[in-house]
Amino acid sequence: MRLLIAEDDPMLADGLARSLAQIGFAIDLAPDGLTADHMLLNQSYDLVILDLGLPKMEGLEVLRRMRRRSGAAGTAPVLILTARDGLEDRVRGLDLGADDYLTKPFDLPELEARARALVRRGKFGVSPQFVHGRLRFDTIGRRALLDDRPLDLSARELSVLETLLLNVGRVVSKEQLAEQLAGWGEEPGVNAIEVYIHRLRKKLEPAEVSVRTVRGLGYLLDKPPAGT
Ligand code: CA
Repeated sequence: MRLLIAEDDPMLADGLARSLAQIGFAIDLAPDGLTADHMLLNQSYDLVILDLGLPKMEGLEVLRRMRRRSGAAGTAPVLILTARDGLEDRVRGLDLGADDYLTKPFDLPELEARARALVRRGKFGVSPQFVHGRLRFDTIGRRALLDDRPLDLSARELSVLETLLLNVGRVVSKEQLAEQLAGWGEEPGVNAIEVYIHRLRKKLEPAEVSVRTVRGLGYLLDKPPAGT
């Protein structure tokens, strides 16, 4: 899951990034509106957290431009951050297509809960979990369960598994997996992906879930056998 945080207060941006990285987001930071606009043109995101009071280009303008774009570039869920007295901005933001808002100052757990809910809505429609044979992936709690018992997976292993589950029956390239894991400009190499896949396979063994290597192309999670 890839997230853009557009926030000009470096302390707040850093706090948000740290807190949201822990729940499995790969994070890009934009310290001003122009940078945010540029990143939104060049990268698709699962969620955008947008401060409205940004230098160089206001948050509302970033949002307006984004929502004019077609396809994935224009449809990512947007959570706006507004000042306590910013009622008018909030209303304009929602009118322009923001999905939710938080008033500063806010608690990080509150933000995390909203972020999860928005991503869930955006990516998974109404279904907050995947069921794959005996394996269940809970996208709200960010955990995988085998026969209802949680599996011990790291945040990165969960991200890899999530991407494979979103693409059941289709080959996923190492580059795609690296992309899902990475923050802006710091993508893990394909060797790191091999390590995550290796660990994931071991941990998924009891679930009888097999991640196949498709030589030269990537990895494939087969559809679960019928009747499971
Ligand atoms: Ca600001």
